[in-house]
Amino acid sequence: MAKLLDGKILAQTLKDQLKNEVADLNRQFKSVPRLVCILIGEDKGAHAYANSQRRTAEYIGIEFELINLPLTITQAEYNHKILELNSDAAVHGIMLHKPVPSHIDHQAAVNLIDTKKDIEGINVINMGKMLIGEAKIIPCTPLAAMELIQSTNINIRGKEAVIVGASAIVGKPLSILLMGKKATVTVCNSATTEAGKLVDHISRADILVAAVGKPAMIKGEWIKEGAIVIDVGINAVGGKIVGDVDFESAQERASFITPVPGGVGPVTVVMFMKNGIEAFKMQLCR
Ligand code: NDP
Repeated sequence: MAKLLDGKILAQTLKDQLKNEVADLNRQFKSVPRLVCILIGEDKGAHAYANSQRRTAEYIGIEFELINLPLTITQAEYNHKILELNSDAAVHGIMLHKPVPSHIDHQAAVNLIDTKKDIEGINVINMGKMLIGEAKIIPCTPLAAMELIQSTNINIRGKEAVIVGASAIVGKPLSILLMGKKATVTVCNSATTEAGKLVDHISRADILVAAVGKPAMIKGEWIKEGAIVIDVGINAVGGKIVGDVDFESAQERASFITPVPGGVGPVTVVMFMKNGIEAFKMQLCR
């Protein structure tokens, strides 16, 4: 039976470390990081995430502001807001919540964020820096997955890591981070499943990460005995939140497994704060 990789416990340890770091920075600079998030419209999931960001920021001692814009906002107005925040020296980090309305190009707006203030690490410059191992700010969810994997004390070097899901914010950056630790990485996408090869890949994985967005699609019997299983998926099913991995059957084979909810999610919010602190240091410790 797998050990539970409890994201809430790990998040608490990390939050306490960051709280101490912010107190030290405050003593040194007489100032703390100030993060601003922009949210368009009233999406419930985005508001829930923003509330959890606010609670976490308050605990750590970071200043947090949520700017809620109307769905009617134009791209030009949206861009203008970002440029305004870029030039405000009192703002150290900027984030744009998803979803955005169809007339807004989210990536174009993200690319406008000052590289030092892009606390999700997803503008083109930060993504490029990550590829060559020079990024100080790295996308939060891949960072959270790495924290959870490393909390097991596994030596990642030489291990087979299989990531199911190849998005620009989760699967792809995580593959770079795992390669940085010398894992042998396979990244699966929808065509892997269409080709009938998904189970073959999953069954080789010493480290399996699921980031697909399909409830319980990965079955326990596909998983290698003793694998570490990180479930990034968040899927609403019948009023409950479930992951991409069928938890009940997977825990029979894995050595460690993250629950959903309470696994990757709580650590992701803390990694966002870690990036905010990093951004603050880049702007103040010149
Ligand atoms: P995307 O929809 O952007 O990407 C999904 C990926 O899964 C794509 O690469 C897609 O392949 C692949 N995929 C889809 N169907 C299959 C299939 N049948 N077999 C294999 N691969 C498949 O999703 P995100 O990366 O944004 O999010 C993934 C999940 O993680 C979601 O549930 C999301 O809610 C959750 N999430 C959780 C976070 C957290 O902090 N816990 C943060 C971010 C996301 P293709 O490339 O071919 O389209």
